[in-house]
Amino acid sequence: MYRDNLKEIMYEFKKYYKDLSEEDLFIKDLSKREIAIIPFENDIMIRHMSFNNPKTLKEYIEKNTPLHLYYSSAYYREPHATDMNSKGWEGADLIFDVDADHIPTDCKVNHDKWKCLNCNFQGIGQTPESCPNCGQKKIELISWICENCLNVAKEEVFKLIDEYLIPDFGIKIEDIEICFSGHRGYHIHVLSENFKKLSNDGRREIVDYVKGIGLEPRLHGLKIGGNGSIIGPDPKDPGWRGRIARAFYEYINKCTLEELRSIIGKSAEIIIRNKEKILEGIMSNPSSWIGLNKVGIGKITKIINIAIKDILCNIDERVTIDIKRLIRYPNSLHGKTGLKVCRLSYNDLEKFDPLKDSVVFKSGEMKIYVKEIPKIRIEDYEIGPIKDMEIEVPKSLGIYLLCKGAAELAH
Ligand SMILES: [Zn+2]
Ligand SMILES: [Zn+2]
Repeated sequence: MYRDNLKEIMYEFKKYYKDLSEEDLFIKDLSKREIAIIPFENDIMIRHMSFNNPKTLKEYIEKNTPLHLYYSSAYYREPHATDMNSKGWEGADLIFDVDADHIPTDCKVNHDKWKCLNCNFQGIGQTPESCPNCGQKKIELISWICENCLNVAKEEVFKLIDEYLIPDFGIKIEDIEICFSGHRGYHIHVLSENFKKLSNDGRREIVDYVKGIGLEPRLHGLKIGGNGSIIGPDPKDPGWRGRIARAFYEYINKCTLEELRSIIGKSAEIIIRNKEKILEGIMSNPSSWIGLNKVGIGKITKIINIAIKDILCNIDERVTIDIKRLIRYPNSLHGKTGLKVCRLSYNDLEKFDPLKDSVVFKSGEMKIYVKEIPKIRIEDYEIGPIKDMEIEVPKSLGIYLLCKGAAELAH
């Protein structure tokens, strides 16, 4: 990025942080958190800082405008200690990262590109786990914020909270804080004391649970009865038992013969022929898995494994497992977009429009030279796809494109 562009972004960021109130910088037990920034001058993170209160933090970031601002999910006795082992870990918030990067969406072919840093092989759409050409995992992603992807991410947040965190883990709604990341997703912070001391392994178990990893339907009520009949869980059962029954019901209800055949072969015909009877049985009280004897428990398990795909949570497990994670500071600016990391309550989420509500540079225009962008929207302003063009745009969009490195200041 040219020096000029960076100077312009820094000027705007500095103004933003100057106007920020101390309340905006309030977080639970700030004095026990490690604070870190990535400065404008270079890409080197400055870590191991600590501040006693929002006032002293605000003074610091006013003087040292950060491109990115982070705090630790962990609480430490000595957050400023430079050696991780000397910090005195006292616990950490339980955090979930829901990001469009990890959720497959059809629109990614329109706005995302990736490139293997090892062999330069390139592609569009969802980034593969490893390069299909050379197998290496060093892949660079050129991604864009997209309205559809953000909506899918929001649905994912509701799923995680409504269907897992509240009913299965007993987490209270008031202990949940949601942050729009300022880019392509949301962070869900659980601030409850009950989870604070949980180790990496404990958090790994929670990840496996919400991602359905290692799920074995036979341990959740699916079995063969005395006379060879199939016995299954009840849709009204709590936890995974009910979830398995409901997912199986939904899948049988909507699948075609061809889809089913691709999973279990010829037995698909038995299910389609008895469909009404099977669905009625599962929903009756008590639930009864009739009409499935000849299909067999192995094939039913296969169907369940496909049926639950839509109800699993697409989270980035690394974030949840890490008990010393640095995470974006609420109300800070994301240096790759200029958008605000918005703190939301559960009730705010439904009507939250990230492409509007996280915009902070609201007044003024800017003349920029755009290199290449897909179709994008910021507030009510839509643009693109365009390439190699000089245009005047609202400052919010201008800063966004400068931050993305997709445009230069025009003179
Ligand atoms: Zn490669
Ligand atoms: Zn998209």
